[in-house]
Amino acid sequence: MRMKNKISRRNVLKSLAALPVIAVAGYHASASAAPMVTADDAVAKALAYTDKSATAGQSCANCKLYQGGTAASGPCPLFPGKEVAAAGWCKSWVTKG
Ligand code: SF4
Repeated sequence: MRMKNKISRRNVLKSLAALPVIAVAGYHASASAAPMVTADDAVAKALAYTDKSATAGQSCANCKLYQGGTAASGPCPLFPGKEVAAAGWCKSWVTKG
């Protein structure tokens, strides 16, 4: 009887120890799963967003609002829940300053 309780307690502790790892792995998986902004997006149309900037010296990568760091794509507050291309551009481009 006493032995059974020890095994049970050990199994419970092992299960609890694994939970944070699963939670963190799940968070990263969902964070990187944000869809890209597409040309048919209503906000993209309104802001003339393109995933390939045609404006010299301006792209999402060097826009103050870009939150992707040095990544090829990342979040922009103008497109909640989606990602823009670092090489992209829109009419709301803001210089980093
Ligand atoms: S505001 Fe426009 S140019 Fe700046 S990161 Fe967002 S989509 Fe790109």
